[in-house]
Amino acid sequence: NTRVLLASRPEGAPTVANFRIEYGPIPQPADGQLLLRTVYLSLDPYMRSRMSAAKSYAAAMNEGDVMVGATVCRVEASRHPDYQAGEWVLAYTGWQSHALSDGVGLHKLSGMARPSLALGVLGMTGFTAYMGLLEIGQPRAGETVVVAAATGAVGSVVGQIAKLKGCRVVGIAGGAEKCRYAVEELGFDVCLDHRSPDLAAELAAACPQGIDVYFENVGGVVFDAVLPLLNTGARVPLCGLIAQYNATGLPAGPDRSPLLMRTLLTRRIRMQGFIIFDDYASHYPEFLKTMGEWVANGTVRYREDIVSGLENAPQAFIGLLQGHNFGKLIIQVGAD
Ligand code: NDP
Repeated sequence: NTRVLLASRPEGAPTVANFRIEYGPIPQPADGQLLLRTVYLSLDPYMRSRMSAAKSYAAAMNEGDVMVGATVCRVEASRHPDYQAGEWVLAYTGWQSHALSDGVGLHKLSGMARPSLALGVLGMTGFTAYMGLLEIGQPRAGETVVVAAATGAVGSVVGQIAKLKGCRVVGIAGGAEKCRYAVEELGFDVCLDHRSPDLAAELAAACPQGIDVYFENVGGVVFDAVLPLLNTGARVPLCGLIAQYNATGLPAGPDRSPLLMRTLLTRRIRMQGFIIFDDYASHYPEFLKTMGEWVANGTVRYREDIVSGLENAPQAFIGLLQGHNFGKLIIQVGAD
């Protein structure tokens, strides 16, 4: 059994020294248990906050714990009446090649043509995009929707659903290749590079009618560029703030919270944070049905960035926080 543990808590950006790889025997299931073999492991930005001791919506990991994470597994051996060897399941077994389960919290993936999609467009990240945009963003035809991390797991789906709703969609992404993909493959109207020194002016030019919905994945300089362009009555689903996950303190410069508060007040902007499964779990079946159709008929496209080998997970995760991934980041832990 190969396992990746949290060796130490990161100060700022994580490094490979914060992780430790351990090898041990493969556990054997007792009566009522099943042995899961990990095929795909999802790497997600929220894992950075679990590595910290700071209070958040979910408990922090302790040093020496197996890194947490959602997985798509094969049942390798079963002594549980509801499962048979060979079945695909969605689990939460973390960064390890094998794990025992008593069946609690598992979801069978029978019927899903490509099981890895249960970690992305047909899983947590697609669901986040769907609920955050439709419930909180409430996009209407003709409105302008802006989303950053635009080619990532969440952002790519946000923009495509906004197009389906008849909106003008402006993406923001890191680099020319991602921006080209957002326009040519995902159908966004425009996509801007957040590393451009002229981002604020370019965004203003790309949003001549202002911004009605800003789906916030990033924070930082992207939000600084967005704030002055938000229209009266704009909605801001507050999904993530990846630009500040490695921050060790508040940003330099003057306190801009008075400007933010005044803008929210005078333009009657609704900004709402959400934690997808805590807030919207009851909508999951409806999401799966709708998104399953959109993916099957090609209406919503997706891109997976699959890195081979559990040993490469620490480096891939470090890269996720720096924009090295292109699409939903997944580790192929074992053979299909
Ligand atoms: P992505 O697949 O979008 O990967 C992360 C991307 O973030 C990188 O590829 C990079 O894209 C971008 N990024 C990283 N650092 C910066 C930076 N400093 N400035 C601008 N962009 C940056 O990840 P996900 O789709 O899984 O997650 C997107 C966001 O959604 C995250 O903030 C995450 O925490 C949040 N989230 C929230 C959930 C909730 O329930 N609230 C659930 C799931 C995700 P690029 O190269 O384009 O800059």
